[in-house]
Amino acid sequence: MAPRCNHCGASAEIYLDYARLNLCPACFKKFFEKKVKSTVSKYGMIKPGDKVLVAASGGKDSSALLFALKQLYPDVELKALHINLGIFGYSDECEQKFRELVEDLGVDFVVFDLREELGISMDDFRRTVYRRRLCSPCGTIKRYLMNKLAYEGGFTKLATGHNLDDVAEVLLNNYLHGKVEQLVRLKPVLPSIHPKSVAKIKPLWETTEMEDLLYASYQGIPFRTVECPLSAGTRSLRWKRLINDVAGKVRGFKHTFVKSHVNKVLPLLERSTPLPPLVECKSCGMPSSSETCAFCRRIQLVRGPA
Ligand code: AMP
Ligand code: ZN
Repeated sequence: MAPRCNHCGASAEIYLDYARLNLCPACFKKFFEKKVKSTVSKYGMIKPGDKVLVAASGGKDSSALLFALKQLYPDVELKALHINLGIFGYSDECEQKFRELVEDLGVDFVVFDLREELGISMDDFRRTVYRRRLCSPCGTIKRYLMNKLAYEGGFTKLATGHNLDDVAEVLLNNYLHGKVEQLVRLKPVLPSIHPKSVAKIKPLWETTEMEDLLYASYQGIPFRTVECPLSAGTRSLRWKRLINDVAGKVRGFKHTFVKSHVNKVLPLLERSTPLPPLVECKSCGMPSSSETCAFCRRIQLVRGPA
């Protein structure tokens, strides 16, 4: 006999092993939204009067995030940001899905097109030293632009769709290589650390990649189905698979790992490892840990010396 939903008794479609919970689609959607709401309130992510910029890639996680935030906080000022990275065979579908979603939701939005605005695309990095690890400059460029556009738009929070699987993967890697400063920065809310840096929030910190996918699918949210051609076979995907193997054997592994870090280890690390102060990039004026910021250096690499 098919398992019954632990909440309403209807026929269940989902089993969440970490919570030993069978759920039907309707109860799962409520469960997901409740979880996002509890994460937001637990960490004080959204306060009255906040202006929130939601960075949405067209993928399942950030699309689920935008949809859930719009349902849960209808009175909060939300705007969606999409960055078209100019990746052949990929970026245009991402932008298309993003546009479908914001139109469905009636959310105000902005699209930043790398080719139009900067005259470069992520594909150009194929001919640089980054050709075998394109996610690195891509991450630098996205983080910089998300913050800059949030800052220039007067937003008080920048929300991203990082999920529990993303966090567990980064956490494990930072531990493995002893990247203490990065460990200190990995938290559900990263407060503003410079007048030109906007506070970052991760409302999907406690939902797994699978939960985001299920929520997006059950809500009929449009999201991209193609994979990024530049990220195929990357370290991050291999590690996520490995972590899932462990989670299959150790119930609640990802949840416990991340929770222990935030509740027990992070407070100690924060006390022992103050982050170095940021300066302003001599080229663009945005916050930076070096004289010229990582974004400006990456762009120069593709454009060549001025
Ligand atoms: P990633 O770096 O691809 O793991 O993405 C992490 C988060 O950054 C996503 O959940 C989004 O919130 C945001 N993001 C990634 N790519 C884009 C994009 N092209 N446009 C806007 N936001 C993005
Ligand atoms: Zn700069």
